[in-house]
Amino acid sequence: MRGTTMIDHAAEIETSVPARLPSAEDAPAGVDVGLWTAAAAVTDPEIPVISIADLGILRDARVAEDGTAVVTITPTYSGCPAMDAITADVAAAARAAGHAQVRVDTVLQPAWTTDWMTERGREVLRDYGIAPPTGTAAAGPVAVGLSVKCPHCDSTNTRETTRFSSTACKALYQCRDCLEPFDHFKVH
Ligand SMILES: [Zn+2]
Repeated sequence: MRGTTMIDHAAEIETSVPARLPSAEDAPAGVDVGLWTAAAAVTDPEIPVISIADLGILRDARVAEDGTAVVTITPTYSGCPAMDAITADVAAAARAAGHAQVRVDTVLQPAWTTDWMTERGREVLRDYGIAPPTGTAAAGPVAVGLSVKCPHCDSTNTRETTRFSSTACKALYQCRDCLEPFDHFKVH
């Protein structure tokens, strides 16, 4: 008999959800397609099913004249604790794609907005049980009280149960109709 605990089993299920990643055809005009595709394979460490490209974090990927691979990322909000891990993962992905010299630039302006998320990214979040963000972050934190849609039944009859859930980037909500708890990706 194998000594698998309930917690291990739950972790296996969680990580077995495959990430839906963009392909080379999704690369925006002007980028180095190979480098962009490698960086787009990096997922958010907190939401391992979504590409940083679909989140809108991946802004640019170019090879400079001196051969340095330069990837530009913009965090969903300044001080997002996941950014160090994302930066390291992007650098590793670029090296694995054959780039010896890699630089990851973090650009804070213009600030990330939910408009930069792709339609696939919103679908992935919904399927994962996270309400996709709404509105724009340009003017600072969005006022609480915006109705947040339940990703399970689409009801807007929801309430925030804690301000900070598993991570600083998400808030925990509960649906008053289907009673399911869910994470809401916060707009910063
Ligand atoms: Zn619901």
